[in-house]
Amino acid sequence: MVSSRMASIHESTTMKISATAKKLAASGLDVIDMGVGEPDFDTPKHIVEAGCVSIRNGETRYAPTVGIPLLRQAIADKLVRENSLRVSADDITVTPGAKMAVFAAIQALLSEGDECVLIGPSWVSYEPCVAFAGATVAWGDVDDNFMPLDLAEKINSRTKLIIINSPSNPTGSVFGKNVLKEISDLAVDHNLFVISDEIYEKIIYDREHISIGSMPGMEERTVTINGFSKAYAMTGWRLGYLAGPKEIMKWINRLLSHSVSQATTFVQSAGIAALQGPQDEVAYMAKEFRIRRDMLISGLKDLGIPCNVPGGAFYLFPNVSALGGGDAFTDKLLKDALIAATPGSAFGPGGADYVRLSYATSQTRIKQALERIEKILS
Ligand code: PMP
Ligand code: GLU
Repeated sequence: MVSSRMASIHESTTMKISATAKKLAASGLDVIDMGVGEPDFDTPKHIVEAGCVSIRNGETRYAPTVGIPLLRQAIADKLVRENSLRVSADDITVTPGAKMAVFAAIQALLSEGDECVLIGPSWVSYEPCVAFAGATVAWGDVDDNFMPLDLAEKINSRTKLIIINSPSNPTGSVFGKNVLKEISDLAVDHNLFVISDEIYEKIIYDREHISIGSMPGMEERTVTINGFSKAYAMTGWRLGYLAGPKEIMKWINRLLSHSVSQATTFVQSAGIAALQGPQDEVAYMAKEFRIRRDMLISGLKDLGIPCNVPGGAFYLFPNVSALGGGDAFTDKLLKDALIAATPGSAFGPGGADYVRLSYATSQTRIKQALERIEKILS
């Protein structure tokens, strides 16, 4: 009954787990949600206020598909200042969430039969978006620190695109200059496009975030994606953006004009306040995430579950092959400990031995989770 295109995609595991955790909590169970990647902080007040003022001022009508001019300018200024991208407001498109930017960019870049390289365990939505375009994923291998290994081997005459996501969901790994240089060299040598999903840019610990689009030869082949959900705790507002070569953006904008039309008008005003207002809450949230990361890593280590120290994002990705593997351990966590987590298999074949634990939850809840895990292990 359904189109073959639809049949190529499955439900988002992260969204499904989030819904399950919410349902169980609503039924009165004390579920600790380490499943979905969503900051537990409230959106900073000055951003909320800007959104409210905008609604009250009657900014409730259609806006241009590409976004309101002031927000596009604020985003361009940010990308020039912080990311060294050579862009102007005309190169920016605002989207309802970074997820729509990912979807639209992939549809614009991939044709039936093309291949797209994903590097190790990768965010749940990339592969379905690639499949929806009629293309296939080539999974790049990674080392123990989730850094790319022998990427060149995954490239052939059908390869069109590499998607990178640093800091990474689900591994938390951050690609440094050398790794990005290797990727950009491959992209230039093989005439590939790169989508750089930088949504965790602000949640980074002792590392430098580098935008691959600023590297030599990359300007004309990189689509940079970012959004407000993680940095400004704005998941439900649905606000993201992308910037890329004009010829690609033209088609992305057409697709958006026929699908979502635009990001919500008054939400875009809140976005301007986010980018142009004080950034101290962004720094506070990142600092707090770091404390939680360290607390969870040391607690897991005490329980005999070693884990890499991720350089960014708010996920731990421990190998639980000794505990039955990612799927079985995730089931056990939910059934026996009422902890919602995401099985590593949701992030591609390389993730099967792992479980993703989101530490975007309070220190109290993390302590309770560790106590519960101790109980089910003993
Ligand atoms: N990319 C990655 C890697 C993510 O983890 C998320 C989180 N949902 C997104 C994109 C999309 O974020 P949003 O649509 O909320 O802006
Ligand atoms: N990106 C978050 C996660 O991985 C939110 C859910 C989603 O959009 O997939 O949990």
